[in-house]
Amino acid sequence: MTKRDYYEILGLSRGASADEIKKSFRNRARQLHPDNKESGDEAAFKELAEAYEVLSDEQKKGSYDRYGHEGVKGSTRDFDNVDFSSFQGFGMEDIIDALFGGGGRGGFGGGQASRSGPRQGAHLRYDLDLEFLDAVFGLEKKITVKRLEDCDTCSGVGAAPDSKVSTCATCQGQGQVKQLVNMLFMQSYQVIACPDCSGSGKKIEKPCRDCRGSGQTRKSREFEVKVPAGVKDGDRLKLAEGGDKGPRGGVFGDLFVVLNVKDHSQFIRDGFTIHVKQPISFSMAALGAEILVATVEGAKVLKIPAGTQSSSQLVMRDLGVPYLNNPSRRGDHVVHVIVETPTKISSEERKLLEQIAEIRKEKLKVSAPPQAKGEDFFSAESAQAEKKSDANSDGDSKSDANTSNSDGGATNKKKKHQGKNESAEAEDKGIFDKIVDAFRPKE
Ligand SMILES: [Zn+2]
Ligand SMILES: [Zn+2]
Repeated sequence: MTKRDYYEILGLSRGASADEIKKSFRNRARQLHPDNKESGDEAAFKELAEAYEVLSDEQKKGSYDRYGHEGVKGSTRDFDNVDFSSFQGFGMEDIIDALFGGGGRGGFGGGQASRSGPRQGAHLRYDLDLEFLDAVFGLEKKITVKRLEDCDTCSGVGAAPDSKVSTCATCQGQGQVKQLVNMLFMQSYQVIACPDCSGSGKKIEKPCRDCRGSGQTRKSREFEVKVPAGVKDGDRLKLAEGGDKGPRGGVFGDLFVVLNVKDHSQFIRDGFTIHVKQPISFSMAALGAEILVATVEGAKVLKIPAGTQSSSQLVMRDLGVPYLNNPSRRGDHVVHVIVETPTKISSEERKLLEQIAEIRKEKLKVSAPPQAKGEDFFSAESAQAEKKSDANSDGDSKSDANTSNSDGGATNKKKKHQGKNESAEAEDKGIFDKIVDAFRPKE
């Protein structure tokens, strides 16, 4: 049987970029993988996997480009031995990762070709707790990380100082052998690190005591982490080469510092904007006032304009969080004003409030219970408004309005109560919103 051209299998022409090869492979693998009930095709999938194995590897691709199938003979895994039935129930990404290795560490193919050579060490993660304000302004902090480094005693070779070092007989110094391995999803022939020399290619007579022959020991290292202003919860900082040292002369992996930012008792952050609640008295709201409000820059003066309504938002510009990577720009500090009604008042205050009510001609009581029907009690305008809102609501509330007799005041009161219960969770809402909610048709 003649083999199909690898580029043809991937639907690409010669000279396709590594990106195009990867993209095309993923698209086709999704269609063809045996788990796909509509278009799955195990034989085609194996063919595709083989094509990708070659074309995604710089060396093998070069060889294939020059000499065709002959150039890569024996260097591909035998995908015919792969038992794809064990793939069932796994996502495409899992399968690709299992076959070709998760992204990063050398990736597919390349990782195998260089298995006997130096490899990069593992990336490490460090969780750093930050106070709310540390995330706003940034900080520098020393952290201690335990990571693998070359053993000092044997300089990473793994041999005791008086030990003989010779070439490993099992792999003839290659550091890798071909053998049947069980991977996560399958059985396959694969080139793996030599089990006798762990891929070093060397036979060590007497292993180093300090590292038990591995050539590496774990050491505590201190790093200075510079957290920039404006970071948020979950952000990651990368400290290049802060991870484990690769074995046998490999380079360091990276260290990722994951930021866990704590909540603040007063400030609520939304991107670069900070929100706060600010209670004020009704005299302040009516007369206007200057008050001190808490900001991330400390207490600042805020002018409350006369006639401020509850739930108003007053914006203090540029007192929010500095933009990450551009700290000269900042978000805003938004003050949500809540006008508080006093619950305890002295007799003197009561007198004054009653006086105000009198001046404003506010009736605190109805002089006599309404004799006529509700419609007569309200002005023509408000009666119309009521009709309109009734028309908007569903049949239930309409019948409610009809059956609840004569007493306009009572109906009104009842509806107010409904509104109160419903909006208990939305204490931030203005009175207008509450009324609108009370008249909104129920689901
Ligand atoms: Zn050692
Ligand atoms: Zn070996």
